[in-house]
Amino acid sequence: MHFTIPDEVGGVIAKFEKAGFEIYIVGGAVRDLLMGKSVIDWDFATNATPDESQKVLGKDSYHQGFGTVGLPTQTEGFKPFEITTYRIEFGYSDKRRPDKVAWGKTLEEDLKRRDFTINAMGLTKVKIIDPHGGQKDLEKKLIRAVGGPQERFAEDTLRMMRAVRLAAELNFKIEKKTLDAIKANSTLINKIARERIRDELIKILASPNPHEGVLHLRETGLLIEILPELEKAFGVEQKSPQRHHIYDVGTHCLLSLKHCQSTDPIVRFATLIHDIGKPQTYKKMPNGVITFYNHEVVGTRIAKRIAERLRFSNEQARKLIKLVRWHQFSVGETQTDKALRRFITRVGVENVEDMLELRRADRLGSGARETSWRTEEFKKRLIEVQKQPFTIHDLKITGNDVMKVLGIKPGPKIGEILEKLFAEVVDQKLPNDKKAQLTRLKELE
Ligand code: ATP
Ligand code: MG
Repeated sequence: MHFTIPDEVGGVIAKFEKAGFEIYIVGGAVRDLLMGKSVIDWDFATNATPDESQKVLGKDSYHQGFGTVGLPTQTEGFKPFEITTYRIEFGYSDKRRPDKVAWGKTLEEDLKRRDFTINAMGLTKVKIIDPHGGQKDLEKKLIRAVGGPQERFAEDTLRMMRAVRLAAELNFKIEKKTLDAIKANSTLINKIARERIRDELIKILASPNPHEGVLHLRETGLLIEILPELEKAFGVEQKSPQRHHIYDVGTHCLLSLKHCQSTDPIVRFATLIHDIGKPQTYKKMPNGVITFYNHEVVGTRIAKRIAERLRFSNEQARKLIKLVRWHQFSVGETQTDKALRRFITRVGVENVEDMLELRRADRLGSGARETSWRTEEFKKRLIEVQKQPFTIHDLKITGNDVMKVLGIKPGPKIGEILEKLFAEVVDQKLPNDKKAQLTRLKELE
């Protein structure tokens, strides 16, 4: 394997070695370096105590707590280095930290407590310490627990989400015994803080293989624990006369995610759960036709609950909910401009592109063609109607212009005049053009 250790990293190693301490690059940095990826996040493990590390590194270094010393970096893009004294404990999912951290004496002790073999190697310029076969698993593209997988997942259930997340990020498989142990422990996942589940889920969604990631969550039994609403959608049939659907709801959701080209994890999540209201609204008519009347409204409520449960930020929740709520938008050619403008206002100008992407993925995920002439016409019209202003703030003149031209003082009158001109622009009696609007203002004098 070929890799280079940047000078700044080599410099830190040299300083510790010169002072008589052991130090190794550890964790994700070793893994990514061996895979030929660029590394920005460098973690080190040493037998020096935090105080000793600070002495070696000088006044720029700072104590971060729990045995970690931080050091600002010069190399472009690098995060601050983190140098941690050998540990004999990793991950405290119940959030309780021991009062006193017990340090390990050797690198081997430290590596033994790490989660997966590919994350449990130590590296310097001249040697690699790999007691658990991490290099072999990198070659085989396998996520394998260090030590007995049963105990390792039981003692820290976050590791189950980390396994699925790493598999999705690296496009690796989860080794059989490790996978079996996750299946056996999956019901314990909700023991950890929801924020931590959210963080891993968002990383799975943001990975190059979000669809594989969700399949893995399902296969391991984690999905039914963290997103039971989605698990329920599998097996809900929608193939019926007069309907284009060929897949069950869950499979359709997954396929839609697979086709989604947005890199935004929230757009991907919205695509995954857009039909989450279908299981509850399923109705089969006597003639065999299946309907899901109002499923987007029911789905919006469910999406809201999921966002709350998984502690999404307000901004993330708002976007998710809008995309789910309006995903059934019509592209019908008989709609008025006003209807199109209402669509834009509801979805939010900033989300229109994402809403269209969700539709594209939704179509492909149900076996339809990517687009239709109606959709293409609709998109053109969306651009056209956006050339007209949406609020008084989109006018080409401002309150200042009104005051200057009409020589009036700040007050409600200004807003009234802007509203009047805005109405004229919407009715296409006045162009949205600065010169024309200034001229019109003068007429009002
Ligand atoms: P990335 O930074 O790309 O998300 P990473 O593997 O570096 O991946 P970190 O969360 O930065 O992940 O953790 C650094 C290292 O600490 C890991 O590589 C692993 O060796 C160890 N580690 C992290 N979390 C756990 C855990 N819950 N149990 C055991 N070891 C862990
Ligand atoms: Mg890391």
